[in-house]
Amino acid sequence: MPNPQLTPVQREKLFAPLFNRVLRELADTSCGDVRLHWALRRKLAKELTYLERGTPTHRKRLKAKKYSEQWALCAICGRVLPYKNTELDRLDAFGGYTEANTRLVHHACHIADQKRKKYA
Ligand SMILES: [Zn+2]
Repeated sequence: MPNPQLTPVQREKLFAPLFNRVLRELADTSCGDVRLHWALRRKLAKELTYLERGTPTHRKRLKAKKYSEQWALCAICGRVLPYKNTELDRLDAFGGYTEANTRLVHHACHIADQKRKKYA
């Protein structure tokens, strides 16, 4: 299923005003302190990423669980996975990084699979 995406109207009527409010809040909250503004913006970006991807600790635990469940085999090619430098592939991006919605794969297999899906 394709990921939900904003329509042009939603981008203009919902997202743009939201983004502008966030920019104003960052400016107001940092009171002209450029280093505080930078730190607030960086923290906000990090927290928004965690909302979508979960925390690094969450993903690390999920990878370890998947590694064990898949008997250390790549879910795409079936070859042995290294313990590090593997990737969690979401079956449906909207479903997030959950046990039911992910599989552990090689980086190269992940890239090839993404290309195949994109151009299929
Ligand atoms: Zn593989």
